[in-house]
Amino acid sequence: MKFDTKVVRSGVSPDPSTGAIVPPIYQSATYVLDEVGKDKGYDYTRASNPTRQVLESNLAALDGGKYGVCFSSGMSAVDSVIKLLKSGDHIICSDDVYGGVSRLYNNLLVNYDLTFTYVNSSNPKEIEDAILDNTKLIWIETPTNPLLKVTDLEAVGRIAKKHNILYGVDSTFSTPALLRPIEYGADIVMHSTTKYLSGHNQIIGGVLITNSEELAEKIKFIQKTVGAVPSPFDCWLTLMGIKTLSLRVDRHCDNAQNIAEFLESHPKVERVTYPGLKSHPQHDIANEQMDGFSGMISMELKGGIPAGITLMNSLELCYLAESLGAVETMITHPATMTHADVPKEERLARGLTDGLVRLSVGIEDKEDIIKDLDRSLEKIK
Ligand code: PLP
Repeated sequence: MKFDTKVVRSGVSPDPSTGAIVPPIYQSATYVLDEVGKDKGYDYTRASNPTRQVLESNLAALDGGKYGVCFSSGMSAVDSVIKLLKSGDHIICSDDVYGGVSRLYNNLLVNYDLTFTYVNSSNPKEIEDAILDNTKLIWIETPTNPLLKVTDLEAVGRIAKKHNILYGVDSTFSTPALLRPIEYGADIVMHSTTKYLSGHNQIIGGVLITNSEELAEKIKFIQKTVGAVPSPFDCWLTLMGIKTLSLRVDRHCDNAQNIAEFLESHPKVERVTYPGLKSHPQHDIANEQMDGFSGMISMELKGGIPAGITLMNSLELCYLAESLGAVETMITHPATMTHADVPKEERLARGLTDGLVRLSVGIEDKEDIIKDLDRSLEKIK
């Protein structure tokens, strides 16, 4: 099946008992056994659930993986990857990861004798140089949140293989419609399904996808043991969202390209970062490994923080809100919102300034979004 067909059909078949075209929501915690030791494939929803299984098969297929394991949030999926490791292990991580990931690593997991080195993964040599005898995981986000740095996944895949290190990719910003990291050597792909996959700002969820039976078994064991599982209803909403993934992502990409070009030529804008712009430092790599540049833009305004505040408070169509990847256009101030827990020196060292504004471009008419931005930019003195 081609990708657009997989989106609608993979893992989904009419309900055998009724023919229902839409998978039922099996909102049940437990399952009745026929007799001792004989169940119908399910015993308790923390371990497995039919609605969740449909979603897991569908998501695995989209990323070209054999196994998908769903979690109650993107963060619990990230945390579950770390549970594959042991105390004393060292992790190399992209330096511009989502603030919740660095908060988990720096504020919680360091207490379990894990150590972390952050590198600019757009330069794969920095990854190889950071490898220690106890390095057990390379964790890449591409494009990163919020600076949209792109990593050459194949180059990192070669390094991970050479040193026999587990290789995980947070592909939330790319979605499987634009990038399938397993094709470039990733052992595990992670998505916050909260974002583009479900796409409608209705649920919080996450998934890990792999082609390795051994890894899948370990991850399923963690899922069942820790119990950070999504509800059957959330799985169903995610499945319904995924049906239109290809169409939505096409529109997100087209809108974002047009809006990035508009912003780049606007006199009140200092700098625009969007992988689809020729000015993006990793535009060529993005062009090679992705089938589009996604819907995320970050920008720095002339006039710094006051200008950013004027813009964000003046917008009417674009919502001032955390999160991304949904049908509505949302604008965020990373320094006070998504990345507020990253210490200021660390933020500045990685280029995440107080004046940075992040735009998650929705699927509304691009002319309306541009009009809203233009009108609000005009208000900046
Ligand atoms: N990874 C990235 C790139 C994100 O942007 C986010 C959330 O914004 C997460 C992981 C965490 O996902 P969730 O909010 O579903 O826990």
